[in-house]
Amino acid sequence: MVNIFALDIGGTKTACGIYDENLNPLRRWKLPTGKSLPEIEGAILKACRTSCEGNEIAAIGISAAGNISPDGRTIAFSTNIPSWIDYPLAKIIEDDLNIPVIVENDANSAGWAEFVLGSGQGSCNMVMVTLGTGMGGALVLNKELYRGSFGMAGEVGHLPMASSGLPCGCGLFGCAEKYASGTALETFAKQAVRRDPEAGAKLLEFSGGSAEKITGSSVFAAAEAGDALSLSVFRETGEWLGKTLAAISAVLDPDTYVLGGSGASPLLVSEARSSYPKFLQASFFRPHAEIKLAKFGGDAGLIGAADLALRKVKG
Ligand SMILES: [Zn+2]
Repeated sequence: MVNIFALDIGGTKTACGIYDENLNPLRRWKLPTGKSLPEIEGAILKACRTSCEGNEIAAIGISAAGNISPDGRTIAFSTNIPSWIDYPLAKIIEDDLNIPVIVENDANSAGWAEFVLGSGQGSCNMVMVTLGTGMGGALVLNKELYRGSFGMAGEVGHLPMASSGLPCGCGLFGCAEKYASGTALETFAKQAVRRDPEAGAKLLEFSGGSAEKITGSSVFAAAEAGDALSLSVFRETGEWLGKTLAAISAVLDPDTYVLGGSGASPLLVSEARSSYPKFLQASFFRPHAEIKLAKFGGDAGLIGAADLALRKVKG
């Protein structure tokens, strides 16, 4: 029997899971990530040691936000944990436990989980787009994760979709994530309600009576109840999303897109499907990629990291 221990290290919480060799979860739990470097490292090592006692753990897979070295050993920099710069996480754990460790970018781990066990199964070239506060991505090309020359491939949220557009945290303007992420949906909804409070009355009902309290979930609930303004916000966000996917198709020509993350919903997927062909190069003369909703939720990173660790053991 071969079991895998997986961790998904977030800014405040770290998700942990023990998986069997068929990637069935045997146990899952969360622990605080910690703040200082010694605290974070101590918490990770403690979780690894405890999990390895009596659980026949053959390898450890770690999913973390940031730029990971292409060999899956070192975190070049982390967006969640700024003190991790060229941080040799895999070596630190291997030296302590003498068990193989792989580290993978969190979006790549989630994308890999969808490719092997989720909505991307059977695909050859798959792009996962994660919609949340921002927009992340993972590329599986010719059935392998594509990390790029510097470990930075798949940043689909920073495709420049609108010239002279909204400023983005990355330093550029008009990035896709300012128009088609979960945050963008909320921003568009708040703007629409402030522009026309009368038309926004129904959405306000679903949002505790205040524009400030509008969330992606409240816009979705109001849209499901037939609210015209909320439906138009989904159409606007979905239009940008479809346009972004068409831009990706012009370069990578994938057969499947998987949309996941807290901002992905059946309604947004449906709007993106309608918009995509309008922006697709040679739309009438070529096959169109499938656009699907992700199968996994918050545990995608754990599952993907567990599978990558399992492959390392099995060769
Ligand atoms: Zn950007």
